[in-house]
Amino acid sequence: MAEPTCHYCGDAENFPRDPAKGRQVELRPYGPGGAQVCFECMMATPDREREAQRKFGVQLESNEVVGGGATLLTSDGPVPFSKEALEAEQNIS
Ligand SMILES: [Zn+2]
Repeated sequence: MAEPTCHYCGDAENFPRDPAKGRQVELRPYGPGGAQVCFECMMATPDREREAQRKFGVQLESNEVVGGGATLLTSDGPVPFSKEALEAEQNIS
């Protein structure tokens, strides 16, 4: 099976984007039609960000339904969802 790659930039998952910080590409199914996208591309335009947030909202609800514990996607990766984490992320940009 082909390795999943970002719908926009084509980087593969776990591609070492910033080795100094130990950062790797993490793909999320928040692109068009559920396509895999990396965080940078996901946030590259307001439209994409809105799309991702809309999809993320759907996922958030389904997580709550199954009792899996909601998470919030931040530039550092997923963190447990909380009002504080959400506000901290929104204050970055
Ligand atoms: Zn990308």
